[in-house]
Amino acid sequence: MANVTLKKVEKVYPGEGKNKSFLAVKAIDLEIRDGEFMVLVGPSGCAKSTTLRMIAGLEDITGGDVYIDDVRVNDLPPKKRDIAMVFQNYALYPHMTVFENMAFGLMLAKRKKAEIREKVEAAAEILGLTDLLDRRPNALSGGQRQRVAVGRSIVREPKVFLLDEPLSNLDAKMRISMRAEITQLHKRLGATMIYVTHDQTEAMTMGDRITVMDGGKIMQVATPMELYRNPANKFVAGFIGSPPMNFIDGEQAAGVFRELGSSEETCRFSDLADGSYTVGIRPEHLEISTINNGLKVKVNLTEPMGAETILHTETAAGTALVVRVQGDQEFETGSDLYLTPQAEQLYCFDAEGERVKI
Ligand code: ADP
Ligand code: MG
Repeated sequence: MANVTLKKVEKVYPGEGKNKSFLAVKAIDLEIRDGEFMVLVGPSGCAKSTTLRMIAGLEDITGGDVYIDDVRVNDLPPKKRDIAMVFQNYALYPHMTVFENMAFGLMLAKRKKAEIREKVEAAAEILGLTDLLDRRPNALSGGQRQRVAVGRSIVREPKVFLLDEPLSNLDAKMRISMRAEITQLHKRLGATMIYVTHDQTEAMTMGDRITVMDGGKIMQVATPMELYRNPANKFVAGFIGSPPMNFIDGEQAAGVFRELGSSEETCRFSDLADGSYTVGIRPEHLEISTINNGLKVKVNLTEPMGAETILHTETAAGTALVVRVQGDQEFETGSDLYLTPQAEQLYCFDAEGERVKI
């Protein structure tokens, strides 16, 4: 087990020919605690993989320092860092059995046969692969293959597990069950795990803490519920939560906030200075009414899912507002509704997207 610390870590990809060099990771500071399940989440291209690969030693660190258990590892090759990495494309050897696939790394390291058998069998037990040890990968489901890939890293008993979108190749149902399996595995092993995903649901359901990244920078590090309740900025507010938070651009004047292009009151903030802001409200925090009470919107689309319905609506001034309605009520496309935001659930952001206290 180990803690992992990043201090002002930077990555510059060198340019080639016409391509200019590119600053992919911008001086990030991050502390991952011993035994923690830390998720790195953010949109494609925000440098999650680059960050993970620098921790693994698969990518040069061009600025700053990485420590594993207080040892600076910048110049250590991957083998000496005591880490194991699981990728999205977990290529298993097709001609080898599950046992051989899991044993391969230990065989290369010239471990004793009895020790290899013991470790592989213990990992297989943890992963529910005991009955499949003699099968070849082509006789396994996607989820089982993924478990073998995880098993390969468990047998090495690394200090830190690094996982880069390991569930992306699985179908939706399998992803949900593997999500729970990896969470349980983490509990059982008590190991430090750093898990990369672009999927906020995976991040929310799996992480002890989550690092939200955008454009090579860290936007916020917090527990899942802290990110949901208390996003530091508009980016995190819009990224965490599904469907995402609604944003209403507008003006605050004399205690009243009005949507851009509308003279109607949207909501009231007694202590907010006059000026331009973006107000945020989650789909689950809008109350609906069919009588004239609140913000008037038109229903453009309904997505009934049984236990809840997602309504895609639009104000007269053109702001899209998504509403989550509990229960199996029916709504007609094209009809009018009135929305009232729950006052204590409103968020406010300035022109730079920073959170403004209200
Ligand atoms: P993520 O995993 O979050 O999708 P990556 O870490 O793969 O993002 O990439 C971060 C940024 O660095 C992207 O803009 C990507 O195009 C760029 N990048 C990744 N690898 C290289 C490379 N070998 N050379 C130049 N740019 C790269
Ligand atoms: Mg990636």
